[in-house]
Amino acid sequence: MDFFFEVLKNRTGFSRIGRINLLGSQKPIKTPTLVIPFNQVLMDFFDFIESFGNHKIFLISEPKYLRTQVLDGTFKASGFVYTHYGTLQKFKQILTERKEIIVDHDVIPIIPFNIPTTSINLTFAKAEIKHHLQEVEKIIEEHPKINFGFSVKLFEYFELVDLYIPLLQNHKNIKLINFLDSFNNLNYYRNIIDLIIKIKRELDSNHVLMISGNITSKYCPLLVYLGFDLINVSYLPYLATENFYDTIEALLPTYKIKYLPCNCFACQGKLKDLLQEKYSSEKMVLLSYHNLITAKNYMDKTVQYLHTEDFRTFVEKNSLNDLNFSSLLKIMDKEYYEFVKFYSQLNQKNKTIESIAASSYYRPDFQYFRTNLVKNYNPEYWTRLILLLPCSAKKPYSQSHSHQKFYKAIRAFHEFPAFQEIILTSPLGAIPRQLENIYPANCYDISVTGYWDSEEIQIASDMLGDLLKKYDSDIPIICHLEGGYKEIAKKTEKQIGNKFYFTDIDEQITSPMSLNNLEQLIKEHKDDYNPPQHQPKTSPLTQTWIRKLSKIVDYEYGKGFGDKLVEHGIRYKENRLHTKMFFFDENSNEKVGTLRYATGKLRLTINGVEKIAFDESFTNYVIFDGNTIRGNTLFRPGIKDIPPTLLPNQNICIFDKNKENVVAMGDMIVSSKFIYNSTSGRIVKLYETK
Ligand SMILES: [Zn+2]
Repeated sequence: MDFFFEVLKNRTGFSRIGRINLLGSQKPIKTPTLVIPFNQVLMDFFDFIESFGNHKIFLISEPKYLRTQVLDGTFKASGFVYTHYGTLQKFKQILTERKEIIVDHDVIPIIPFNIPTTSINLTFAKAEIKHHLQEVEKIIEEHPKINFGFSVKLFEYFELVDLYIPLLQNHKNIKLINFLDSFNNLNYYRNIIDLIIKIKRELDSNHVLMISGNITSKYCPLLVYLGFDLINVSYLPYLATENFYDTIEALLPTYKIKYLPCNCFACQGKLKDLLQEKYSSEKMVLLSYHNLITAKNYMDKTVQYLHTEDFRTFVEKNSLNDLNFSSLLKIMDKEYYEFVKFYSQLNQKNKTIESIAASSYYRPDFQYFRTNLVKNYNPEYWTRLILLLPCSAKKPYSQSHSHQKFYKAIRAFHEFPAFQEIILTSPLGAIPRQLENIYPANCYDISVTGYWDSEEIQIASDMLGDLLKKYDSDIPIICHLEGGYKEIAKKTEKQIGNKFYFTDIDEQITSPMSLNNLEQLIKEHKDDYNPPQHQPKTSPLTQTWIRKLSKIVDYEYGKGFGDKLVEHGIRYKENRLHTKMFFFDENSNEKVGTLRYATGKLRLTINGVEKIAFDESFTNYVIFDGNTIRGNTLFRPGIKDIPPTLLPNQNICIFDKNKENVVAMGDMIVSSKFIYNSTSGRIVKLYETK
């Protein structure tokens, strides 16, 4: 596969930012984007050209536009796909007649699949598809130089996608897959997710995914979330002829429209006067234009959020516009996370992540945080007491007023380094103090009312239980909690053997009396449990930031690697702007890593990773097919081998081809699953090379 299309970045869910390099436009086309239909009526409407003249991709369905004056004239900057709404026979004929212009201008012909009936039974659908595929295969083989788009029609029998897969696998000149009718009935949300996963599992990762069918503006955020690169909105002009006015929430029949909630040329101009006229052709044009502008504006907003904001929150808000959207999102979160995580962005920088409602509880980055934390968390063997504390609005928690006050009570004890603090919060769960600086614990925000719903309590209590089960059941647990936080601890108490002690809260959790009660309770129980092994007095692990480093390394690279790194003797220093913490090898003074507060992510240096990467159980690596690496991106052909577990945004080291030396450090752009199904594309963004 050549560089027809490349994925540049993953975003949340299946969403991605990509680039189509060969579509006849002056510059590569950034995706996701809309595909805007091109027809006589719109072409004659001056405002359409004015508003869409420099749009990135058009769909041509009339062969008369397949000429240089159009493709290289007015619309020189744009790319084109071509399809035909009639028979396959006619499409073939046009293809042969216009072959030269299609090749010269890199137009992508999308092989149509039109049959006049819409509802057919399974046997007939199967026969139709088989017959169609035979015809299509001939066309593709006849024109090896043309890059094709390929239409998948399923007639609501989602299992029929299996008939298409071999053809898609066998023909490298199919670059784009166009789903014709898969979204027309959203009640089938499970089938829709299964379909997308099947495509990702079985086909080359570098196909452009396009969606057509009954798509209105409100679909844009969700379709982008599902990983579609191109959204064909040809349905919108058709809806105009049926007297529908599109908005980003719903489709409204024109007879209801009184207030024209839009400022486009049509709505500001004559559309209002024409709305009640049933058969006005001018109204159809204005309405078509309005519907397309609505989609364009909403898509622009979607792409803006995709690039610069927390896109997941945007999708959650949008999902309220359709019950099926909410169901789809919920099912995808709860039942498909183990697959989604291989395509979803799991770390973001400089963002406040707003957890707006129950729809946020299981977002992929939150689930990754919870499961990965529990999996890799290794208790400090010298722990003698566990303290449960409530979260704070300010992040990291330790900088908040409330936590500063807790610290005064807790740090009064010289045994403090042997206390394990765990902070309870919604919807993330239970966070050991050492991990308060990592994403998303460093940047999430919730509306704090003191009321917790049962799902939030369950999530936090489960995670707390999972963490506490890692400790000796004789270690006492002191809870400085109230309200919903206390409920979490009470619920967990029932599942595990440890003794729980609750401080008396006097008015407020931070009141002098409450804090005094906390101090007393610690005093009473700090010697209840005597760990079999004490921490050596000189151990660097008595220092808060070294304790943090060790646990962060475990979280990012796997259980046990933190202590292995810290064993070497580490010192640390914050930068002047208080935005980063640097870690150094105490003996050699070489830098071993940097934690950037904005990303909540630790980046080890080559020097740092060399201390842990040669261990057999280390899996954050890529084996490079060579010895020296140049530039700042590692591409697919440069990869010799990878473990199957790599995820987007993961920090990894790059070994030379014999796995003898670390030659670079970087962040994964894609995952192992993506790499297995790809022969080209960007794989790792490098931040250090040897
Ligand atoms: Zn309008």
